[in-house]
Amino acid sequence: MHELVGVVVGPEFTRATVQEAVAEALAPFEERWDDDTEEHSGWWDYWAIGGRWTGVWRPDYEAQDDPRNIDRRPCPICGGTGHRPDIGNVNREEYIAWCGGCNGCQGKGHQVKCPTEWVPIEEDVLSVEQLLADASLRVPRRLVLPDAGVLSREDWDGDKSYDWNEHWAHLVRERLAPFRAAKIVSVDVHN
Ligand SMILES: [Zn+2]
Repeated sequence: MHELVGVVVGPEFTRATVQEAVAEALAPFEERWDDDTEEHSGWWDYWAIGGRWTGVWRPDYEAQDDPRNIDRRPCPICGGTGHRPDIGNVNREEYIAWCGGCNGCQGKGHQVKCPTEWVPIEEDVLSVEQLLADASLRVPRRLVLPDAGVLSREDWDGDKSYDWNEHWAHLVRERLAPFRAAKIVSVDVHN
């Protein structure tokens, strides 16, 4: 799954300069298999700043609707028409309601680029203060703090979902409070 992880870094970082600091903070948690102890450790095999969560802390923004994230080539599934006359024995109205007319481009004629190619969004490196000040902003499912401390929702209550949980949100905000002068990076972590 693609987990939203918040990595807390120093206040001096911006979206353009933070890559190395995040790599350093996450390095200890890479998935490993120890042959001697036969134990598995770590919780990621891939990560990207923003990634599928690009713009998560910018309420007016949808990465998938950003024209810069659209592939200009015609959708290869419908040839750029947004329609699929080839779907055969399927209820056409239901199909259009489900995917807009083409399951490759939602009927738009062009596909959204891969999240790895999406334009970077400055708010993916947000001041902790801002996150704390706006209760509507989504809290990560996992926090990596500057002292390498980690807080994970899955460890906390075994929940693998993204369902809103008031207690979890409160706990995350409480743990972030001492770092209000720092910044938090939204990281898409694959595990
Ligand atoms: Zn299409």
